[in-house]
Order: sequence, then C-alpha cells, then structure tokens
Amino acid sequence: VVRPAVGARISPDHLASLVLGATGRTRHLAFLLDFDGTLVPIAKRPELARADAALRVMLDRLGSHPQVSVAVVSGRSREDLLAAMGGSVRASLFAEHGGVGVLPDGAVVFLTKPPNGDLLPVRHRVREVTWPEGVWVEEKDMALALHTRGAPRDGAARAGTMLRQIVGDVDRGQRLRVLEGKEILEVQPRGLHKGLVVEWLRRPQTGKSPLLVAIGDDRTDEDAFRSLAPGDFAIRVGHAGEPTAASFRLLDPPEVRWFLQGVLIRLPGPGFQGVCV
Ligand SMILES: [Mg+2]
Repeated sequence: VVRPAVGARISPDHLASLVLGATGRTRHLAFLLDFDGTLVPIAKRPELARADAALRVMLDRLGSHPQVSVAVVSGRSREDLLAAMGGSVRASLFAEHGGVGVLPDGAVVFLTKPPNGDLLPVRHRVREVTWPEGVWVEEKDMALALHTRGAPRDGAARAGTMLRQIVGDVDRGQRLRVLEGKEILEVQPRGLHKGLVVEWLRRPQTGKSPLLVAIGDDRTDEDAFRSLAPGDFAIRVGHAGEPTAASFRLLDPPEVRWFLQGVLIRLPGPGFQGVCV
C-alpha cells in the first residue's frame, strides 16, 4: 500500500478497499470510532446528537462479523454515551476518552483509575466560580468538562482562561491537563486518553494482532492516532487545516458511514450484507 501525505483526502470507497486489502481473509479488524462529529454531526447540545436506527443497524452488523470488533470511544460520560447510542449494538462503548467501557455483553471495564485525589480540588473551585453566560460545567467520573457551545466567543475564551488558572493553582503535581476540544474544555488526568483503547483493542484475537482503524474529528482523537502501529489506519474527519497524525481524511459523518458501509459489503462470508445508510 502506498501511503499518501498526512491527512490526505480519499474517497470512502477507495479507503474501504485499502482497509479490506490490508485485512485479508484472516486478520482481525478492530474499529475505534469517535461519536460526536464522526458518526453523527455535532449538535447544538450533546443530548440532541443521537445514533439513528440505520447507524445502529450498521454498527451492529459490523460488530457481529466474526472477523470484526467495534469500539465507540467518546469523551461523553457513560450514561450519556449509552443514551446517545440509544440501544444495544455489538460494540464496546468507551466513555470518558476510554476511562471506562461497557462491552457488548454488558460487562464494565475500567482502563484507568479515577483521579479523585487530583481532581477534587478543581471540582470544589469550579463550583465556587461564576462562569460567563452560556457556559456550563459537567462532572464526570474521570474528568470535569466546561461546555462553551452556548456562550459567545469572548465568554468562551474567558472561561478557558479561568479554568486554566484554577488548574494551575491547585494542580501542583502537574498530574492534570486541560484539553481543548470543539466547544469544550476538559480537565483530565494525564494518563487518560483514547490511546488506552488502542492498547485494549490490540489484544490478540486470532493469534495475530488485529488491524486497527481509528476515526475521529478532533484533538482528543489524535491520542488514538499516535498510539497506532505502522500499517494501521488513522482517519481524521473534517476539512484540512489542523495538524494531524492521520494518514487519511474523510469529510464528514455521512462519508464515515459510507466508508463503514463499504467495509461491511466487502467483508468475506455469507450472511453479512450491508444496509442502506
Ligand atoms: Mg468528536
């Protein structure tokens, strides 16, 4: 396979052919899929972004193929991600950037310990602060998020400065980091990132290590891309512009679905036909 330049635009069908070519008939294929901005478009409020029936059916068929496993990995809290997926599919659902996952059989796995000791003073200070209009705080198990999509630009910028100030004041051991996503700022333990799920997916399934395909639309997904092995596929969603460790680029969630659909219909074996999305 000839590798194009970093973040190169590619058609979903072409990409699906490349992935299937690299997988062959025997190698296990593991997907790491971001949710917001990747599988579904970014919505005004997180609760408005929901997996529709066509997406659930497609992920279910993909994850039910004996050669394939699917992990949806989001920054959302566990309850939030389960609600957004709207029903069970044959996929592992990793919340909080991979901190905690719910497997297809319902089992819950923690990939890192909750950072309570480090995060507690930040939680206290954040509650005492009056945030700019339209900014709201979300408490998660592993992190604390500041949502700015309801705030004007200057309010969002001011909230970011305030949050960095708080973390700078209380995090003497520098065990936390402030991560900036799309209209969200998140305080996380440094060891918590989507690369944890890459390591988890890399567990050998059929003797050989699986081929990994990671897809995401923002900076938190770059942690997963950087954890991939040579030959794996990193796919950034969106327009060119931001630096990325991904080799390929798809434009938007409809193209991501088209790509996944393309993989599904090319997979070997009877009884695994694609669905229209
Ligand atoms: Mg995203």
